[in-house]
Amino acid sequence: MADINNSVGFDTVCIRGGHTAESNRAHLTPIYASSTYTFDSAEQAIATFKGEEKGYIYGRWGNPTITEAEEKIALLEAYGINDKDGKPLQLKAILHASGMAAICTMLMGNMKAGQKIITHHSLYGGTHELVEKILPDLGIEAIIANFHDLTKLKEIIKADKSISLMHIETPANPTLQCVDIAALSALGKKHGLTVTVDNTFATPYLQQPFRYDVDYVMHSTTKFLNGHGTAIGGILIGKDIEKMNKGLTKMHRLLGGNSNAFDAFLLVNGLRTFGLRMDRHCSNADKVARYLESNKGVEKVNYLGLDSHPDHAIAMKQMKHAGAMLSFELKGGFDAGVSFINKLKLCTNAVSLGTCDTLVCHAPSSTHMSVAREQRLAFGITDGLIRMSVGIENVEDILNDLEQAITTPNP
Ligand SMILES: *Cc1c(COP(=O)(O)O)cnc(C)c1O
Repeated sequence: MADINNSVGFDTVCIRGGHTAESNRAHLTPIYASSTYTFDSAEQAIATFKGEEKGYIYGRWGNPTITEAEEKIALLEAYGINDKDGKPLQLKAILHASGMAAICTMLMGNMKAGQKIITHHSLYGGTHELVEKILPDLGIEAIIANFHDLTKLKEIIKADKSISLMHIETPANPTLQCVDIAALSALGKKHGLTVTVDNTFATPYLQQPFRYDVDYVMHSTTKFLNGHGTAIGGILIGKDIEKMNKGLTKMHRLLGGNSNAFDAFLLVNGLRTFGLRMDRHCSNADKVARYLESNKGVEKVNYLGLDSHPDHAIAMKQMKHAGAMLSFELKGGFDAGVSFINKLKLCTNAVSLGTCDTLVCHAPSSTHMSVAREQRLAFGITDGLIRMSVGIENVEDILNDLEQAITTPNP
């Protein structure tokens, strides 16, 4: 790897981190569209298979384009963090076909039948379904607890020795609920649990869970890391390098959720401007949240940067900025939500998040269409709730679009 490490700025790592010189002197790492790799001799094949010699063998196991993405993201997650000996923290990352594939490798690589996961409400929909509908048939149960109530949580963990893994997602969809990573990780570690964090919403630019001694961090790279909406991808990052190189690598290779050279290339390309994009995403979101708060057609704004958000204090403790995600409730309920979406001229009506362009969706008529009304209301997904991933357009254009699309009810 090039000698890019913590001695340079975050943006420099985004641009140069993980890059190695190319044998044909290509400036950038090309798209390695090759399913297999050749050996000079039988002896070299033996050495490579034994791991004595570094080298690529087969595309499912990785390629140079994928390696650059993995090393870049590992450097960003570890940026500025020292290990117990005061040396820069070393992390190992494995790129996957999707965020869900990365979560599956992590779970399958750490859990056995008879063990339980402890996690909280408002997880990403796919993760929630995985732990509720798929894992129980494999003998792995999930306990869904309130991660704001640490006293109760401690009782639950102490009472059930089969709990072996704590999964955290913060901030979470779509109300931006946050939980305290430092406190939860300390509690989990004290009771011997593996602690894992889905850091997709915050990204390493805003929040670095490895500062709090967690074991694994996962991302859907589909979102802010790629940033342009051009590829689905996921990454699993771990600090136990030995375990990452053995058990987790084996699981990744055998489950087959590998990424590919083209998607890895798009990810590396997107990551070059990651820091710059995040600056703009954050400042735009802050302005949008404050504007929405002043709009008479808006009942409530959920944004971590506002004092009114119940988790504002937790977010400010562990995040550098409130980020680019927000949601808001329109006064006119379901119909107002539908009408707002149809009036938009600039903002894009789509699910997903973290792209250069502003994405909005009306949760009750899209992502949560099939969830019973009472159930979604219990999670704060009200009839007029709009989720917004604030993009990096000129903020005046976003504000103008919102202004013309929000109907102010007659008093
Ligand atoms: C999108 C997302 C995922 C799943 O990622 P895919 O790339 O769609 O598989 C997991 N967690 C969070 C928080 C997400 O936003």
